[in-house]
Amino acid sequence: MQDDIDHVLIPAARIAERVKQLAEQITADHTPPRMNDGEITIVPILTGAMIFCADLIRHIPIQLKIGLLTVSSYPGSSLRTQGSQILGKQLGDIRGRHILLVDDILDSGGTVKLVVPALRELGAATVKTCMLLRKDRPVAREVHVDYVGFDVPDEFVVGYGLDYDNEYRNLPDIVTLKKHVYGG
Ligand code: 5GP
Ligand code: MG
Repeated sequence: MQDDIDHVLIPAARIAERVKQLAEQITADHTPPRMNDGEITIVPILTGAMIFCADLIRHIPIQLKIGLLTVSSYPGSSLRTQGSQILGKQLGDIRGRHILLVDDILDSGGTVKLVVPALRELGAATVKTCMLLRKDRPVAREVHVDYVGFDVPDEFVVGYGLDYDNEYRNLPDIVTLKKHVYGG
């Protein structure tokens, strides 16, 4: 696995530092007078946001629930989105609750455009979005997101939850892969 890494884009220590800053900002925005404890549901989009969300919420010292959404946009070994699709949800009752959607990366924006209205439809009071990464593409910058960890170049990245063909999620750094990996 290590031999497949081309270069490290964001090392684990920088991720950890930024995740903590995001959590502090989120905590400030989700406590009185703006919101009350116990009204918040954090929704990571599986599978990519799993690791980011696990680290993030441990720095958010307020009462919250977790809901899960599985969305597929890059099935298998595709390197460009094939259109987003909700494959499953385990949200509980989100009527009247404040939702914080957590995802690994904002690329075409298709996932956010699909999921945010779906959560509103289910009765969420508010829906905010938190992306670890945002790709440097005009189409990504046009989509409103509330919290962004890092802006990254328009390259395919893996690690810290992000995959290629469901692998490399366990790399602690965010990296690019050597061309031979995609060779097929
Ligand atoms: P969007 O719907 O904004 O086009 O893409 C969002 C989803 O596509 C992300 O949640 C992620 O699963 C996948 N994705 C987009 N860009 C990348 C990338 O560079 N690497 C990986 N591993 N997944 C990506
Ligand atoms: Mg994803």
